Amino acid sequence: MLKKVLRRTFGAYNITVERCYVKKLLLTAVAASLIISAVPLAACSKKKTEPRSNYDLSVSYNAEDGTLAGEESFTFYNSCQNELTELKFNLYGNAFREGAKYKPVSESFKTRAYYAGESYGGLTISSVENCANWSVGGEDENILTVELNSPVYPGESVQVDIDYVLTAAKINHRTGITQNAVNLGNFYPVLCAYTEGGFAECPYYTCGDPFYSTCANYTVTLDMPEGYTAASSGEVKDSQTSGGRQKVTYSLENARDFAMVLSDKFTVKTESCNGVEIKYYCVDESNAGEGLKAAKESLEYFSQTFGGYAYPTYSVVETGFCYGGMEYPALSMIAEGQKTPDAVYTTVHETAHQWWYAMVGNDQINCGWQDEGLAEYSTLLFFENNPDYGYTRAAIVDSATRAYRAFFSVYNQLNGKVDTTMNRCLKDFSGEFEYTNIAYNKPLIMFDILRKSVGDEKFTGCLRDYFNAYCFKNAPAEGLIASFTACGKDLEGIFNSFIEGKILI
Ligand SMILES: [Zn+2]
Repeated sequence: MLKKVLRRTFGAYNITVERCYVKKLLLTAVAASLIISAVPLAACSKKKTEPRSNYDLSVSYNAEDGTLAGEESFTFYNSCQNELTELKFNLYGNAFREGAKYKPVSESFKTRAYYAGESYGGLTISSVENCANWSVGGEDENILTVELNSPVYPGESVQVDIDYVLTAAKINHRTGITQNAVNLGNFYPVLCAYTEGGFAECPYYTCGDPFYSTCANYTVTLDMPEGYTAASSGEVKDSQTSGGRQKVTYSLENARDFAMVLSDKFTVKTESCNGVEIKYYCVDESNAGEGLKAAKESLEYFSQTFGGYAYPTYSVVETGFCYGGMEYPALSMIAEGQKTPDAVYTTVHETAHQWWYAMVGNDQINCGWQDEGLAEYSTLLFFENNPDYGYTRAAIVDSATRAYRAFFSVYNQLNGKVDTTMNRCLKDFSGEFEYTNIAYNKPLIMFDILRKSVGDEKFTGCLRDYFNAYCFKNAPAEGLIASFTACGKDLEGIFNSFIEGKILI
């Protein structure tokens, strides 16, 4: 996600960066310009043949009442080391119900999100077939637990069928009816990532992106009123119209999520890049030219720098959204109404998430800095190598550093101490201001120091190694550190001093 809006609203926190208290200057001035060899790299083709779980989703949108009736036939492939007797699914759609423990947006973003006043939705499970029992619970009515008829052993599969109804609230958010479109992020029960501690349950924490899932294959059939256009994570396999309705079938492989955005007002512009179809959906076309160009150029740059893009399409969608933008596999939501430079910056940041979130995943609940920091630093690399956009490395690093110092100063004055550790659960952040500085600005500063330490070529080489090692997987923070230390220099100290909050910036 990009909370870029925050970058321009420090005034709301009564902060001016000029007044910030400088603890210690660690960063030296600008380094030499970066030259990265443009060698096209293959996407993680080897791992495409690995057996995966499969989502077969059939959903029907009713524009009259804003509901989505869904049938999910989920085939679980057990790639764990042990047998499982139950499956757990995150029900993110339930975060939008009245009385939810965790509000989907903080007070500061409430007005921007709830454009039509209070509005509620939810996700109701109607039935689960092919199981011994099922129940909805968790910390915030956010977990569907399905007890299996018999244990599923490693290497075996089991299918469960879930019927549900998603009611979309009127809200500019990941899931919701906006003024011009219907955002269908997290519109179905999604299997929780399985870790050593069991299934990782993800309450819809207000701060950050509370998502942690495993790559699977998708077939999605969307039934919607005729006249609507749908942006989607998937590639269109079939499309039929009858009786005032359209039915579109999509497929997507090796993806950790699937999202769609529907509208009866969309204009679509397309481009292509190395066989990938890039689509830009919008209502107001004023950012479309620059936005589509940035999507294409950044997709190409990241493919050449880190490794090939894995999906057949990439859709950038301008829609109602309370933050700057939001990433999904093969689809990015960009908040409509942004000025062109902001929409372009957001587009590049979200496109970088295709590498650092979509293809290489991580635990976004406890290590939000990992993909956000890499997305921010990749954005810097893109702009540095495409100077026509008007950004420089020095300016981006300087902006992050000043913002971070301002945060440190304010929190120090307020509390007498500042928690600057980076591996933290989303619920332990006091709000977006702290989260933005710890998960975006601080790791951006860290990656710049790492780059100065190993040199430009080795730096991008480390990121390529990281991409290759974890494509379509979830990478622990230690995996990222190992990819850098393998470059031949002991960089663990730098990582640890930042992660553990020991370094003074
Ligand atoms: Zn982001």
